[in-house]
Amino acid sequence: MPRPIEALIHTGALAHNLARARAAAPDARLWAVVKANAYGHGIERAYEGLRGADGFALLDLAEAERVRALGWRGPILLLEGVFEPRDLELVSRLDLWHTVHCTPQIDWLAAHKTASPQHVLLKMNSGMNRLGFRPESYRAAWARLNALPQVGEVGLMTHFSDADGPRGIEHQVRTFAAVTRDLPGERSVANSAAILRHHGAGGLPGALRGFQGNDWVRAGILSYGSAPDFPEHDAAHWRLRPAMTLRTRLIATQQLEPGDTVGYGSSFAAERPMRIGIAACGYADGYPRHAASGAPVLVDGARTTTVGRVSMDMLAVDLSSLPQAGLGSEVTLWGEGAGGTILSIDEVARSAGTIGYELMCALAQRVPVRVVG
Ligand SMILES: *Cc1c(COP(=O)(O)O)cnc(C)c1O
Repeated sequence: MPRPIEALIHTGALAHNLARARAAAPDARLWAVVKANAYGHGIERAYEGLRGADGFALLDLAEAERVRALGWRGPILLLEGVFEPRDLELVSRLDLWHTVHCTPQIDWLAAHKTASPQHVLLKMNSGMNRLGFRPESYRAAWARLNALPQVGEVGLMTHFSDADGPRGIEHQVRTFAAVTRDLPGERSVANSAAILRHHGAGGLPGALRGFQGNDWVRAGILSYGSAPDFPEHDAAHWRLRPAMTLRTRLIATQQLEPGDTVGYGSSFAAERPMRIGIAACGYADGYPRHAASGAPVLVDGARTTTVGRVSMDMLAVDLSSLPQAGLGSEVTLWGEGAGGTILSIDEVARSAGTIGYELMCALAQRVPVRVVG
């Protein structure tokens, strides 16, 4: 028998979550963001659930090739654009849309020999200071790009630094709208947090409600069933369903006496007689080693907590309140457990001082993955 750990990818949940994005931004077209191998879910595995999107957005040319190999003929967007001039040949061959965020990328386009004009999105740095032209140089970049025979459509794009937090997006929306007011072209500004929080769907102010020409939204994390603004709101609040379950089984139990310790470093000591279970999952599977003792976990669908430090291949769980649990009991690290109980990846991430994004992207290669409807 193989080691009992496995990950499940729920394509029905992916489709459901995309529908939530559609409902929040009904007038916009939808990019399904599948960078980082579909946030760790696997592009090929997630495809069935996400193909209802209007396009796929990603970073890597090899990933774009994989999406085309699946038979996708619609738009594919390179979110960081090309990394060197010869990437433009593949862009032409695969018919990709690409972001232009810096002057060298315009120079490369100007020198590129292409049969058909390319579809680009010109990115503004409206305050995040990662990629994009600053507001004062944006219009000159637009004019130069727009005049190139190598370029067809020029879309307009920016990215928000605080769509999930108290600072919000208004300052960036204002900058972007002012600079682009009279420019033609489709707009794309919203990530998951902006889609859910700022279209007015969640009862928040809705800075994007009525925002002129929010033509394409970019749904990443919400598609995978994680709340972009956890813990202010959880996935249940946004009616998102987990697209990934990580589960395993108990391979041993131990009866502890007061003073007995658990795992490396003896960081946990029993204060009373207690029973623990040993689950076949550790940090080499992608479970965060930094998850504190007491992180939430499901055993046979019932909530309990981890005990002590996470090892490479194992972790311990508290069975004090679960007398029926024993060898072979199902342990859900995140996602959907027995009886349909949900343990959000966001809660586990918080126990490890990180976010759901990082955990799902870090699912280890050695974990077998199965696609379920
Ligand atoms: C990753 C990414 C997104 C998606 O962000 P989420 O928070 O996962 O929705 C959108 N736009 C750009 C430019 C990105 O890099």
